[in-house]
Formats: sequence, structure tokens, C-alpha cells
Amino acid sequence: MRGVLVRLSDAWTEILQRRAASSAGGSYPLPVQNMLGEMVAAATLMQSSIKFNGSLILQVLGDGPVKLAVVEVQPDFGLRATATVTGEVAPGATLSQMVNVNKHGKCAITLDPQDRLPGQQPYQGVVSLLGDAHEKLEKFSDVLAHYMLQSEQLDTTLVLAADDKMATGLLIQRLPMAGSGNLAGSQLSQANEDEIGVNEHYQRIALLASTLKRDELLELDADTILRRLFWEEKLSRFAPLAEDGVPHFSCTCSRERVSRMILGLGAQDAHSIIDERGEIEVGCEFCGLQYRFDAIDVDRIFRVPGDLPPASETVQ
Ligand SMILES: [Zn+2]
Repeated sequence: MRGVLVRLSDAWTEILQRRAASSAGGSYPLPVQNMLGEMVAAATLMQSSIKFNGSLILQVLGDGPVKLAVVEVQPDFGLRATATVTGEVAPGATLSQMVNVNKHGKCAITLDPQDRLPGQQPYQGVVSLLGDAHEKLEKFSDVLAHYMLQSEQLDTTLVLAADDKMATGLLIQRLPMAGSGNLAGSQLSQANEDEIGVNEHYQRIALLASTLKRDELLELDADTILRRLFWEEKLSRFAPLAEDGVPHFSCTCSRERVSRMILGLGAQDAHSIIDERGEIEVGCEFCGLQYRFDAIDVDRIFRVPGDLPPASETVQ
């Protein structure tokens, strides 16, 4: 069995503060804040468990008042998150009332390799927000456990919690049978599949983990949590991530990326915005930064490369 515990304070409050300060959205309604916080904790846990050399993007595509919630975690645990709220969210709204009103809500996990070759598509897995009996799932952790079982063939238990100060979670996973499941050939992978859902040690540990209450997860430190849950188990504790490797807020937006977006609009549309408003203003929904492009900037974006004056190839 393997476990990971994450407690995000600074990275999470920075996401909330930037949102509160941004002109676009303002603070999230409480249920949206807590859902997004759970997603931030979950995406961090998944990145640390998969150890993927690229960005892990966790998205909920909602069919209710919350249209989209996105979390992106880089291999160095730089992370950012945002949610798009288009309708009224009741103070006590459940997961399904926010994103799965008509059972059309989806959860997508995208793995985008850092050294992606031209034309290579990022890997994406999509699951519904429904359980085996087609019922609406009300815990985001259940959605992800379902995904992990489908995609990785591993029993996974997640406990997640978030408030305005902390986004936190515990992940417990049953490791594949002896050796490495992928390399050991079909016999072992069959043995591994046979154990799904029935391995008694996993059942015991998962049950202990699931007794963890939201308040305990939010308020207790890692040592206390581990002691409370697993005091009867043989536990190997790894050192926490060192200072420079801890999860932190980081946005990957740039003026160049926004330029490419404007290029995608097409010259006609871009110029008509300039004619109407005098400039194109694009705000980053993740960090709140505003990018402004005036008529000269837009001309420069659409100038065909052959027209450009010769420039240095190294320093731009
Ligand atoms: Zn940004």
C-alpha cells in the first residue's frame, strides 16, 4: 500500500486571493471554493502518485451553474486553478447541483508531456460524474477513485477537504502485485486484476482512511493524522518534500501565448475589436494578470514573417 498526504495552505490561499482581486470574477461562492480546493488537492496527489513528466490537468465540465473548473499541476508542483461560474450557486449546493444537474457533467484528466512531439496529442481520460448504478456522485473523491480504477487498474481511496485556508487530501493506493505490474507479464497483471476490490489488506487500510473526518483533515498535522488512523499498522514514513520541491502557485500564461490566441482570432476580428475599443484586453483567469494590445501590437502580430525587419535569433 502506498499513501500520500498533501496539505496546501500558501499555494491555495494565493489562488483564492488572486481570484478575489481579479476584475473578472471576484470571490467564489463557498461550495465552488471548496470543490475547487478539493480538486487542487486531488490533482497534486495524482501528480505525485503518477510522477508524470508534464502537466496534469484535472477538469470538471459541468452542466449546471459551474461550467468549468480546472486545475493544472506541473512536475515541479507549480500549480494554478480556476472555475467559471455562470449561474446562481446556493450556499449549501452539492456537487451535482453545481456541475451535474442533468447527469451530463464530466471529469477529464489530461496528461500533457513536457517534450511532446509535433502532432502528438496529449493523453486524456474522461469519466462521468455517475456511480455504477447511474446515480449522481456527491463526493469528488468517488469520481477520481472511479477514474483511477478504470485507467490504472489500481484500487484507490481518496479523502479530500478544503476551506478558505487549506486544500488537503489523503490518497491510499494498492500497489500492483509483486515486482512491477507493467513489466511482469500477463500472469501477474491478471493476478493484480483479480485482487481489485477484494484485497483484504487494502480493504482494511481504505476503511481506516475513510474514517478520516473533514475537520480532522483540515486541522490536524500529518503526524497526528497518520497516528490516529494507522497506529496498528506497520508504517514507513518518507521525508516530506524539501523546501524547493513543495507545491506552489505558478501561472504559465505569457504575452506570447496571448499573442498566439489573438492570431487565432484572425486579422479581421482582431482589427474590428481595435476599431471598436481601441485595444484588445485579455485577462488571465488563473492569475488575474491583464494583457493589453493596442493597434501597433496587433499589426505586429498579423504581419507576415517575411515583412519583419531582420532581428537577432537569440535574444528577443
Ligand atoms: Zn496567468
